[in-house]
This record gives sequence, structure tokens and C-alpha cells, in this order.
Amino acid sequence: MTPPKDDNKPPLDTIVRRVEIPESASRPVATPLFPSVVYSSPSADTLDAQYEGAVDGYTYAREGHPNADILAAKIDGMEGAEGGIVTSSGMAAISAMFLGLLKAGDHVLAGDQLYGRSLRMLSQDLPRMGFETGFFDAGSADNLAAAIRPNTRMVMIEAVSNPTLRVADVAGIAAMAARHGLILVVDNTFTTPAVFRPFDHGADIIIHSVTKFLAGHSDVTLGYVAARDPAHRTAIYDAAVTWGMTPSPFDCWLAERGLNSFEVRFAAAQDTARIIADGLAGQPGLTKVLYPGRNDHPDHDLAATLFGGSFGNMVSFEIAGGRDEVNRFIAAAGKIPFAPTLGDVATTLSHPASSSHRALSAEARAALGMSEGFFRLSVGIEPAALLLGELNAALAAVNGE
Ligand SMILES: *Cc1c(COP(=O)(O)O)cnc(C)c1O
Repeated sequence: MTPPKDDNKPPLDTIVRRVEIPESASRPVATPLFPSVVYSSPSADTLDAQYEGAVDGYTYAREGHPNADILAAKIDGMEGAEGGIVTSSGMAAISAMFLGLLKAGDHVLAGDQLYGRSLRMLSQDLPRMGFETGFFDAGSADNLAAAIRPNTRMVMIEAVSNPTLRVADVAGIAAMAARHGLILVVDNTFTTPAVFRPFDHGADIIIHSVTKFLAGHSDVTLGYVAARDPAHRTAIYDAAVTWGMTPSPFDCWLAERGLNSFEVRFAAAQDTARIIADGLAGQPGLTKVLYPGRNDHPDHDLAATLFGGSFGNMVSFEIAGGRDEVNRFIAAAGKIPFAPTLGDVATTLSHPASSSHRALSAEARAALGMSEGFFRLSVGIEPAALLLGELNAALAAVNGE
């Protein structure tokens, strides 16, 4: 901000006092950043009215600030949600959701191929605190039916599993959850609202790791949670505020800037993912190529119905061989960062056996369809021909050509 001009210099008894923001008949085009932790109200009556919700007004940044609300409103618009809450990470969104909606003794059922940290929270941390948890294969609602107990309160799924890209039986699971009065939570990070809008399919809660495709530039860590029921929303908001899962204003500001280009980034990445998957399929040295948009994907028909012709930007594949071949592939594909993330504007390559799924035994990984040679590509917006050339060169290097 430019300092006030000399001729309208505000009266300062001491420099420690904040000055008025200069008047301007015109408005900023870019969203201002509001780092202020506290807001000063004109009277105790006004502050009362703020806390009672009779008037709008910020009080203390842990309870909310403009940059979080501006970002939340944009994601709300994409998801068809209202009153979404931005949190300090995707895991914070999941934590706030559990802590706000469950009490000790409640039972949660979760898809057995959720994001790795979610699986850890469900298998280790929640049980330690007195919550009961269990897992089911989300490929069929029958598996859910078999696992429901009298104290089951909630079901949590992802529409597409990481990294094997299996598609959940969302319609069956939503119907089963509704019949048993269970809260259905969908972590929509992988699919994004460009592919799938959980509230249109019976979900009660939507979760995002904004860190990934929504922010899209690998420079912020943030989460988002929205609830269809306002009582759920209030409970999750209070948990997030009480447990201190507040997002930084600067991170929200960066994420909002990234989000502005989400639709074009995602469309370009998705088009390229299809070209890469088709270009890789059948190449020597590749034993598997998985993309839900291809006819040979085991869940292609389900994906086509559920996602209405969008199939996302994630492509998984398997190279023949073991760790040596994996290391050679990574080295030869060196311009594509080998990094355990997804949703960056540029393509990233990940290797589940050494990162997201390293805690599992080789046998457990094999049961999920992941060998040592299994890779996942989060396709970005580089030219398809460039990426395909680099991947084919890496394959040739592994094949000793
Ligand atoms: C990354 C991720 C998370 C966790 O998000 P953070 O922002 O890293 O805390 C949760 N769910 C899925 C599907 C993710 O990919």
C-alpha cells in the first residue's frame, strides 16, 4: 500500500498506532490480503450482535477471516455447497469433520483404498481416542451392508481410489447410507468438482485437499469441508475453530489465485491424460496402463455413468521389473518431478511402493493391484507430445535400448 500523502497525513501520537487505509473511489481488482488477526468493533453492543450473528463482522482470525471466506465461497460455487469451511490442510478438514460429528463409541466405515493418511487416522488415531472404525471395498455396496453395525454413524469414501483408479459404487453406497441413516462423506480431492459433484450423488459431506488440484501450484497446504445439513456445518466449524485448524490468510489468497485458472488447467490436463494413456498402452516394457476413460479399464462403464464423460487427469501404469528398473525409469524421466503429490500445474510422477503405500507389505500392495513397478502420473498442462516423448524415452532406458 502506498503511504498516505503528506497533505493528508493522519494524526499520529506515536508510530505504533495503525493508520487509516487511504480512501479510494476506485476498488482493487485483485483480492486484497487480510493478515489481521483481530478486528476492532465500534462498541460492546456491536460485538454482542456479531457473536449472536445479528450482524456480520470478523472478530478473531482463528474464527474466520475474509481470505478464507472468499476462497470457501468459490469452492462452494463449484460444489453446489453453502457455508464451506477452509482449514489449514486436507487432513485438518478430515479431522474437523470427525471431531465435530462423532463421539467416542461411534463406528465409522471407510473405503479400504482411501488416501494413506486417512487410512492411518482411521486405523490408528481414531481407535486410540475411542472411536470404532472398519474398512470395506467400496467397489460394491454389498461390502458396506455386510460391515454395518448398530453403532455405525458414518461412511467415508473417495469416488476414485489412489493409485489403482478403481471407481466406487457411489449410487449403491449412497442408497445404503440413506437407508441406515449414516452420514456419507466423500473426499473429492482426486476427482475434483470438474469430474464429480458429491452433493448431486447423495453425499452429506464433501472434503477437499485444496493443496492439490484446486490451488494447483504446489505452494499452499489447505483443506475444505462442506456439509449439507447446517447443524453438521456448525459442529464441524466449531471443531475446526476449537482445535485450531485455521488456514493462513496468505495461503487462502494464493489458493484463490490458483483456483481462478482451475477450469482451464483441469480441462487441459484431462485431455492430455487421455492422450498419454492411449500413447502408453501397449508400449514394450509396460505391463499395465490404467485410465478410467479407456475401454480396457475394469470400471470404465461405471466411470462413464458416474462422471458423465470426464475421467480426470490421473494415469497409472506398471513397468516390468523391480526396484532397479524403477530407479532407472525415474532417473530417465528426470524432467518429470518424482514427487509424492498430485494436482500440480505440471506433471508429477509418484511411486506408491516407496511413498503413499510404503507402510503396507508387498503382499498387501499386491492384493490392491500394486507391484513394485507401479507408478502414478498426475498429468499437468505440458504439451502431450513432450510428455509422451519423455515417458517413452524413460521406458526405452529401462528396456536397455
Ligand atoms: C493429499 C490428500 C489429502 C490430505 O490433504 P493435505 O492437504 O495434504 O493434508 C486427503 N485426501 C486426499 C485424497 C489427498 O490426495
